[in-house]
Amino acid sequence: MGRRLGSPLALALALAPLVMMAQAEPSPVQVPAEAPNGARVWLRLGFRKGIQVQGSQLPERFVKSGPTEGWVAYAELSPEAKRWALQSMFADDDWQKDGIRHYVRWPELESVWLMASLFSGHGQNYDQLQKANPKNPGKLRKGDVWIIPQALFSVDLGGDVKGVLDRSQPEDELDDEQRVSAYRALLAFGEDAEGRFASYHLRKGEALYSSVVMRYSDRVDPKEVNDLAQAIAKRSGIPDVRGIQPGQLVKIPVEFLADPFQPEGSQALTEEREVREEVRRTIRVEAGPKLNGVRIVLDAGHGGVDVGAMANGVWESDYVYDISMRVRRILEQDTEAIVSSTIRYPDYGFKVRDRITHPTHSAQILTTPPFANDGENPNAVSVHLRWVLANDLFAAFAKKGDAQKTLFISFHADALHPSAHGTMIYVPGAAAVPASFALPASRGAGVLEMKRGGKVSFTGKERLQMEAHSRLFAEGLLKSLELEQIPVHSNRPIRNIIHRAGRNYLPAVIRYSAAATKILVEVANLTNEEDAASLKDPAFRERYAEALVKGIRAYYRRS
Ligand SMILES: [Zn+2]
Repeated sequence: MGRRLGSPLALALALAPLVMMAQAEPSPVQVPAEAPNGARVWLRLGFRKGIQVQGSQLPERFVKSGPTEGWVAYAELSPEAKRWALQSMFADDDWQKDGIRHYVRWPELESVWLMASLFSGHGQNYDQLQKANPKNPGKLRKGDVWIIPQALFSVDLGGDVKGVLDRSQPEDELDDEQRVSAYRALLAFGEDAEGRFASYHLRKGEALYSSVVMRYSDRVDPKEVNDLAQAIAKRSGIPDVRGIQPGQLVKIPVEFLADPFQPEGSQALTEEREVREEVRRTIRVEAGPKLNGVRIVLDAGHGGVDVGAMANGVWESDYVYDISMRVRRILEQDTEAIVSSTIRYPDYGFKVRDRITHPTHSAQILTTPPFANDGENPNAVSVHLRWVLANDLFAAFAKKGDAQKTLFISFHADALHPSAHGTMIYVPGAAAVPASFALPASRGAGVLEMKRGGKVSFTGKERLQMEAHSRLFAEGLLKSLELEQIPVHSNRPIRNIIHRAGRNYLPAVIRYSAAATKILVEVANLTNEEDAASLKDPAFRERYAEALVKGIRAYYRRS
């Protein structure tokens, strides 16, 4: 989801800083090196790209997928080659048995994240690296020495760090239901002169906005998260949130708690438990690895005059469109699933793009006739046409096919508090889906699909089942992403409602979608620099699409 921009002028103004940022990117550095076979090759360190090696003359054993003409990414190198690349790129570094003394050479290109990624195997271990160097500022300076302890070495460098090290939240390893229970168990309920509250003791490394507000409330908007963090600090008698120490007791007024954390006996908690019960009862819909008889509709959010969220030189529309196109391509190549898209960019068709240089201004919702997302304020219409179109496709499919094998995925990227990182998935909370809804004809743009449909009705049981199926799918999908080392939100990555501007809200595309299984996936948080950098990288988008398709296949597999 993201900000909506009204006119082309507003769009041009909003994009102005984006263009300037793109020009300010520091250029890569290249250093010559000698490979063990005597070949002279260039090593390159690029802004947010990390190390790359000129591939043509490398020894065969140096590259996992065999020799190549182009630049080889560090991740593609063998363990031996990684060690050689690091020692060649950072020739001043001092390698000892118990650790490496790393000298910062190019502060404009290096970051703590990059160091963690090169030496420990994953950038998300940056907090561990910072802990090992408590005196160093997070912003790198030329000549600074960073100690990389042996305990942080990746398997490739002879250590035993296999993925992302434990951060402060041991619950991250649990499945969704257990994780939410674990979070709940950390709360105690009480009452004082100001009313009922849930109390929580901050643990080491936890911050008020992420580990309290983002986890225990449904707020995600950065301003609303900050406002609530301030309110909770005040309520808890904390004068300055920057001075918070581990063990600090905070009081969260119960009215701000998300459903799973409401007090015993509350209706919200009862409903939450009903859904969990339904998830346990849900029988997997099987289709086999080829996804035979599965009907999938892919919806790339925003597009046309609406570029969606923007931060760090990335805007939402083109990037999520590209990921959805990659998913589409893989599904068409490797499976028998029937796949449709709700939106098409006429300039590119359904092609994937490695290079995305500017926001694409033309996009059409694929209704009959197509609806161009280019009017003065087209979103109020196009948001609804997406589900109207998808439901029309599902209705046609259900005449012959199994309506249980219908899947709807909406692709977005959000702009949350910059500390939030990775993918978050929204499922249709049963309580937020209405029993019936009909889109007024005046908002249907006169499309054929509107005349045939444009309305939905669901029984209570259906709403419960849809949430349960969608949760099951979302959970498998997150596992699949994590297996591919794609970051996932660390506080409740599956949600069934958003709280915004004083009301609970469920995006229309999943609120009214008739698919048996439906999610809205926020692939990354654009305000987080690393997430934005990932999204810019076509290799990341491809990995993301591959992991997503693996998740779909896992969901429908015969067990
Ligand atoms: Zn969006």
